[in-house]
Amino acid sequence: MRIDVLTLFPEMFYGPLQASIIGRAQAAGLVDIHLWDIRDFATDRHRQVDDYPFGGGAGMVMKPEPVFAAVRHVLDQEPAPVVLMTPQGEPFTHELAKELAEEKRLLLLCGHYEGIDERIRQGLVTRQISIGDYVLTGGELPAMVVIDAIVRFLPGALGEATAVETDSFAKGLLEYPQYTRPRDFEGMHVPDVLLSGDHQKIAQWRRRQSLRRTLQRRPDLLPKVELSKKEREFLASIQAGPNQSEDDSD
Ligand code: SAM
Repeated sequence: MRIDVLTLFPEMFYGPLQASIIGRAQAAGLVDIHLWDIRDFATDRHRQVDDYPFGGGAGMVMKPEPVFAAVRHVLDQEPAPVVLMTPQGEPFTHELAKELAEEKRLLLLCGHYEGIDERIRQGLVTRQISIGDYVLTGGELPAMVVIDAIVRFLPGALGEATAVETDSFAKGLLEYPQYTRPRDFEGMHVPDVLLSGDHQKIAQWRRRQSLRRTLQRRPDLLPKVELSKKEREFLASIQAGPNQSEDDSD
């Protein structure tokens, strides 16, 4: 997969893209990430990339000419989704990351300052993505979030391919609690079932923990999850209160 990032601040990407799993995925040739400085496509003497908004108002707006020139240069007639990072875009989710990981090529466009000239949206952008209902200073951090989430789905990027299948959201639920050594830490113990070696029991315990967590932290996710009759009863018993007999171990 190839990802081109258009930004006014390429230096913001250097650390995050070089470290850990994303760095290794690039070294292994699973993903080819190119950073482009939009300022390099400004043609006037001062390499101006922003200007005051028509109609007045606070902040500066990114000019269309350098962005159009940059996108045309980078894509060079080859079609690819042009994705604008914007708080006005569709919410970025597990499903969307998975979908984008199927693309051969993506271009991510980072706004900055007060945002971009609307004609960039009209003339270039094919998709708009928001990473949450808050406003950041620029699209660089959102682009890094999107790249990170996509790369995890590329075959071979994670040590264990199954990791993405058990992570939160993969099956519509939050992930169960994880433990590692030591068994006892400052009076807190690893649940016995995880030490039992009984894989069926462990899987059952994990599923119930996932259900419990999702109910407690993200109940909005549950209507989309396929549940057995027993699982629905289990959730109902949690909702009924602590005196109801619900047993995580069976
Ligand atoms: N004035 C714009 C608005 O109200 O919609 C916000 C501009 S914001 C200060 C500057 C840039 O940061 C945006 O053009 C966008 O690229 C990026 N950005 C900010 N928040 C974002 C979010 N939640 N998701 C994705 N991109 C975001």
